[in-house]
Amino acid sequence: MSGWTVPYVGFRQQYQEQQSDLLRTIDEVLTGGDLIMRQQMLDFETHVAEYVGTRYALGVSNCTDALHLSVRAAGLGAGDEVITVSHTFVATAAAIHHAGATPVLVDVGDDHNMDPDAFEAAITPRTRAVLPVHLNGRISDMRRIMEIAERHGLTVIEDAAQALGATFEGKGAGSFGVAGCFSFYPAKLLGALGDGGAVVTDSDEIRERVNLLRNHGRLPDGTIGEWSFNCRLDNVQAAILDVRLGWLDGWNRRRRAIAARYQAGLADLDALLLPPPPVEEGDYYDVFQNYEVEAEDRDALEAYLREQGVETMRPWGGKAIHQSPALGLSDTHLPRTDLLFDRVLMLPMFPELADEQVDYVVDRIHEFYR
Ligand SMILES: *Cc1c(COP(=O)(O)O)cnc(C)c1O
Repeated sequence: MSGWTVPYVGFRQQYQEQQSDLLRTIDEVLTGGDLIMRQQMLDFETHVAEYVGTRYALGVSNCTDALHLSVRAAGLGAGDEVITVSHTFVATAAAIHHAGATPVLVDVGDDHNMDPDAFEAAITPRTRAVLPVHLNGRISDMRRIMEIAERHGLTVIEDAAQALGATFEGKGAGSFGVAGCFSFYPAKLLGALGDGGAVVTDSDEIRERVNLLRNHGRLPDGTIGEWSFNCRLDNVQAAILDVRLGWLDGWNRRRRAIAARYQAGLADLDALLLPPPPVEEGDYYDVFQNYEVEAEDRDALEAYLREQGVETMRPWGGKAIHQSPALGLSDTHLPRTDLLFDRVLMLPMFPELADEQVDYVVDRIHEFYR
């Protein structure tokens, strides 16, 4: 057992609840001998595209590869600048870097997503694309980002790793740009039993390119069309994901209920900046991949919660991308992101979390600030 009164994730609990469905699914796949790119993966792709509201989805090995292949498929490379945020996983910028393009990092707003004004201010004659990240289950302000991108003729690729099921103005995360990328890492909204990812798109060209790039550049007749990679989604993972996709809306509703409970319990504390609360009517349907707050005395609060048996996390181990000198992007001046990383803390958030556990966290936080 983990030893935490309130752990950060609930993988064991999840497995207990799903054991018979998962074992039956794995048995079906193995009995059929269907291991690589078989019917189960095609079915899952159809269902993901339907779920997001795009024409196509392609299963890939993880979201890092989904991003990398999307950047390449969109024709971006050497000499091209791609604007993204620094408050994201290193994978977002790595995907741009490995395609040969240059990541340009901009600041976030109070919702912890890309600040559209900062995006517009960073555009240069070399800018070819923007890569907004829909962090913590909330879509970036895509009305403004799409408007700015269109005005400047920029390609839009979405990092929707944390946002499967989120909508903005009724449209699904991942369906705004030319490509949207999802992660099925176990702790994500829809988790595999290991790694997995997907690219969604309405574009025939992107679909064809990603399909080729994910499988060694092999054309349908087996000949090699270009140098490429192996970024396939394993069939057994696809089959598991297809079963779990049917449960996703229920899990996301539970995450929203937990967020509402944190909001009700913590809103009176001036020492905390909470994320925007879930709303029933409005532009944003947020799915709370994480519950990320900014807190005064963050280090002491974190230590107090640990003592009290509450497991918390700092995003990306506590460093934004421009704060990792090894990546060579440290000369970027991002005051809002710097402030955020001095204060940020993520509270436990997963569908199996009980109301009593949420209340326990809320009470300990009140105790700390008293
Ligand atoms: C998890 C994550 C990724 C990478 O996903 P993998 O499937 O682990 O490669 C990329 N971007 C963001 C914002 C993420 O949270």
